[in-house]
Amino acid sequence: MSAPYLIATSILAADFTRLGDQISAAQEAGSDWIHIDVMDGHFVPNLTMGPFIVEACRRATRLPLDVHLMVENPDHLLEDFARAGADFLTVHVETCPNLYRTLQAIRELGCKPGVTINPGTPAVLIEPVLHLVDLVLVLSVNPGYYGQDFIPEVLSKVSHLRQVLDRVNPNAWLEIDGGINITTAAASRKAGAQVFVAANAIYKHPQGIAAGMRALRECIENST
Ligand code: ZN
Repeated sequence: MSAPYLIATSILAADFTRLGDQISAAQEAGSDWIHIDVMDGHFVPNLTMGPFIVEACRRATRLPLDVHLMVENPDHLLEDFARAGADFLTVHVETCPNLYRTLQAIRELGCKPGVTINPGTPAVLIEPVLHLVDLVLVLSVNPGYYGQDFIPEVLSKVSHLRQVLDRVNPNAWLEIDGGINITTAAASRKAGAQVFVAANAIYKHPQGIAAGMRALRECIENST
């Protein structure tokens, strides 16, 4: 049997006029997690959603809410997101001068801490905290917008982090986010990724959400 993997459907590409239905459709199609991309217009150019949307997602599904904070100074927002119902709270090393403290604060709030790095940031910067987290997210596009092309150079970073995690924290999930489709998911799986964030590949699939999910699963399962 192949190693477990998960699909985290990103609502960034959902139709927000009917967000609850879109989340239910992803859940019925077999999504494992719901991924929420929080952008502040400072750390990344785009401005998206805050705790209010996380709280709405919480009411729409029992699936784990995987909240990815692309914001400057995330520390003062952690409590709001935890209270809104986030399960995972993932912060960028580029935004956290006191990364240890931030990750510990997330755990003290009852959430699972995650750490992430931009494509241009070397993996070595997060290695000192890998034993503290439940999730490591590798950004495979420059954060800000959905629908961007996957940056293939990040695959070597995924392989490297897989090896380090196997040694120091084998229970942490290794997630990849950005430009994931039926081609890039297979390559990411081979490199050692276990959680695949998909927005366009699911919500913008020409045959609908269930077909997008099925296509993604088939390519991941056939890649090993
Ligand atoms: Zn994300």
